[in-house]
Amino acid sequence: MAEVAAAHEVPEAVRSGNLRAVLLGAPGSGKGTQAEFLAAALGVPAISTGAMLRDAVALGSALGSKVAGIMGSGALVDDGLMAEVIRDRLDRPDASRGFLLDGYPRTTGQAATLDEILEECRGKLDAVVLLEVPEAVLVQRAVARRRDDDREEVIRERLRVYREKTEPLVDHYERRSLLTRVDGEQAVADVAAAILRALGRRA
Ligand code: AMP
Repeated sequence: MAEVAAAHEVPEAVRSGNLRAVLLGAPGSGKGTQAEFLAAALGVPAISTGAMLRDAVALGSALGSKVAGIMGSGALVDDGLMAEVIRDRLDRPDASRGFLLDGYPRTTGQAATLDEILEECRGKLDAVVLLEVPEAVLVQRAVARRRDDDREEVIRERLRVYREKTEPLVDHYERRSLLTRVDGEQAVADVAAAILRALGRRA
């Protein structure tokens, strides 16, 4: 995968940072892997709300104890609490020039919160990339990955919640002409290259 990170592979328009983008996709679609890898190539932080919440649980913080049960069930943490989490994170200096979001927004309410936060700092979202992976492959990948919250019934619940609460964002961002679909079933390096091309067209 390293060769994809070569500077010449990163479109000029996005090489200088300043890119505000969202990776959208079902649990197991590869958002986390791609966000971390591409953030390094693009010079912006990868911000994963799932990772932030898991850290909070591991630390036993007040936030962690509020969200542990919810995460374990496959449900979503409520929009109000997530608004605080994402606002604090985007306020940090490393996010001022851009970011790659993985796992936020997940509801139309969260999308509105993100717009509000960006408007306050006169910014706007540049691009949303949807990683498309068939459901059977998502279940297989999740079973193989086996994190704590990845028992099969929890996996199915997470997919159901994705379809009900998060999938409407596909239309939402398509209507705003921000969305690009990428085939997430390809090899990891090919997905990364496709995302970079999509971002290059949209930055
Ligand atoms: P992820 O690693 O992104 O799949 O997130 C793991 C779990 O954290 C999810 O199943 C939710 O319970 C919670 N979570 C992460 N991000 C959000 C979010 N933006 N809104 C609500 N819950 C979230």
